[in-house]
Amino acid sequence: MAIEYRRILLKLSGEALAGDQGYGIDPQVITGIASEIKEVVELGVQVALVIGGGNIFRGLAASSKGMDRASADYMGMLATCMNSLAMQDALEKQGVDTRVQSAIEMQQIAEPYIRRRAVRHLEKGRVVIFSAGTGNPYFTTDTAASLRAMEINAEVILKATKVDGVYTADPMKDSDAVKLPTLTYLEVLQKGLQVMDATATSLCMDNNLPMVIFDLTQRGNIRKVVQGDQIGTIVKG
Ligand code: UDP
Repeated sequence: MAIEYRRILLKLSGEALAGDQGYGIDPQVITGIASEIKEVVELGVQVALVIGGGNIFRGLAASSKGMDRASADYMGMLATCMNSLAMQDALEKQGVDTRVQSAIEMQQIAEPYIRRRAVRHLEKGRVVIFSAGTGNPYFTTDTAASLRAMEINAEVILKATKVDGVYTADPMKDSDAVKLPTLTYLEVLQKGLQVMDATATSLCMDNNLPMVIFDLTQRGNIRKVVQGDQIGTIVKG
């Protein structure tokens, strides 16, 4: 079986863990995602994960209601840690060795982020979950995903969404919308496409790191991307 990517960084939004509840963590949903991750680990693919926190707390939303932005962002980063621990639990229940590293020190529950150590874990076949984003307010977990992907020399970022790629218009609202199988980073930036935020996209552009935007709600899709199937939208130079 052909493997296209041997080391990947998978970016999940916090909402991906919430299922239909739209808030918090749905045990069935997280178990399902963990089993798909297990599937690719068993193919010999090295998997790093960045999980957002939007299912629990978003800094920008809280600051728009009056909270200090930096404090709100730190709360958002803590939300990503909760999601990361939940994912670690779900993976380890299925026998997948997992390490959580945090950009904000919390040594009782996560290793500090140490790049070389993360790479070592990956080489040993452990899933590494990077939590607390970049550790800095005013950033997003998309940017954290790009940064960590670069640092660990991942070959690709897999950005999980609820639609099977990027469309010319919102496919839920416009029946004429067509899927774009490939895009350049510049097109994403110039058209303001909501693929990844601009900081994350320009970081990928500067370092030539491809991103695949794909539908996580279809079972088996993580494996398909890893095997080089043309699903979703690929963004490259
Ligand atoms: N956050 C931050 N710095 C980072 C990453 C995240 O301040 O490097 C905060 C920010 O407040 C953000 C929240 O953490 O709203 C949750 O992350 P994000 O919104 O990216 O999660 P997602 O939308 O992917 O669920």
